[in-house]
Amino acid sequence: MITRPKGTNDFLPPTTAGWQYVENILREMAAVYGYREIRTPIFEATELFQRGVGETTDIVTKEMYTFSDKGGRSITLRPEGTASTARAFIEHKLHGGTLPLKLFYMGPMFRYERPQKGRFRQFHQFGIEVFGSKEASVDGEIIAFAMDFYRRLGLTDLKVRLNSVGCPVCRAEHKRRLQEFLRPHLEEMCGDCRERFEKNPLRIFDCKQEKCQSLLVGAPTVADCLCEDCRDHFERVKAYLDEADIPYDLDPFLVRGLDYYTKTAFEIILNEIGAQSAICGGGRYDGLIADIGGSDMPGVGFALGMERIFAALETAGVTLPVEDSLDVFFVALGESAKTHCFAWLEALRKEGLRAEMDHMGKSFKAQMKTADREKAAFVVICGDNELENNEIIIKNMADHAQETVSAASVTETIVRRIKS
Ligand SMILES: [Zn+2]
Ligand SMILES: [Zn+2]
Repeated sequence: MITRPKGTNDFLPPTTAGWQYVENILREMAAVYGYREIRTPIFEATELFQRGVGETTDIVTKEMYTFSDKGGRSITLRPEGTASTARAFIEHKLHGGTLPLKLFYMGPMFRYERPQKGRFRQFHQFGIEVFGSKEASVDGEIIAFAMDFYRRLGLTDLKVRLNSVGCPVCRAEHKRRLQEFLRPHLEEMCGDCRERFEKNPLRIFDCKQEKCQSLLVGAPTVADCLCEDCRDHFERVKAYLDEADIPYDLDPFLVRGLDYYTKTAFEIILNEIGAQSAICGGGRYDGLIADIGGSDMPGVGFALGMERIFAALETAGVTLPVEDSLDVFFVALGESAKTHCFAWLEALRKEGLRAEMDHMGKSFKAQMKTADREKAAFVVICGDNELENNEIIIKNMADHAQETVSAASVTETIVRRIKS
């Protein structure tokens, strides 16, 4: 038997109805917040992600689905959505249009990860990107968008973790102060960290050695070293969040994994799940567009994992109000009755009603059972006898009330009953 590839999912009904429900909310919200959809290819030139995500990141070094196509080009299945969106922004010269440009995307992403609970090789993300604005109000807006979305789903116990990772100016200052702080303890560090000390002392925070970690207690964070511009920006982001009643915790150790982040970095945590798993992450990336060959152009955005949403809903015990019942089921017995029911079925579907009939040649009793199982609000019972007497039965399944109508008034009666 051929099975699906490891780390992928088949989403079957009724699960897909839940996905559609969530996707519809996201589309409605994008319209309300003024974001328009962009659809980019599932695969891109490998170089885009090397430059746009960062040569040294885990995504690029370990997790990409990269292959040569028949023309010998190196192709990669997209591991995230921001690089492709930024590439399209540059390629189509969208900087020449009205700014800021506010876009959203939704679709599958691919990373070669070790399959485990909640991690998949094909997973799905919704993301938004704003290009062209340096203003802190857009940082505030995207966080508000994400929080509003989760609240609409019924996830309310949320918190934002917020930090500023500064700009290249702040980071140079941070590097200098961190080295100054650690220099007296250089001899006590592990070999790796002694090497990191000169080149990239920030990476010492990643060291697994207890000794190295203990040396970092009280070390200066980037947030301590912000330049005036970054500090002002951060203060304004916080003011916007305060104004919108969005709760946040400052977390000076929050550094998003990607190289291109500047200033605002944030994650959203569902308290029930705990700090381990952020359900949304994003921030500002003022250097990205220039990094992949565009002009100097600020940007800010977030991505949220669709699979994580459903895991979070389950943990929080939230059931989505997914509509899966029928308005009417036709129980038909006999060829002539079936033909009439088929016509009524079509007429009602054209009215937008969810209508169904038996396609399995079932008995009367079995058809009634189907109607019950499909949660039909009304059942129309029509056998050849009923047709002959022109007495079609309409049964209200909620109160079991029955009425008898003529063949000519079946559809009209059903529409009236449903709409009242
Ligand atoms: Zn700065
Ligand atoms: Zn170390």
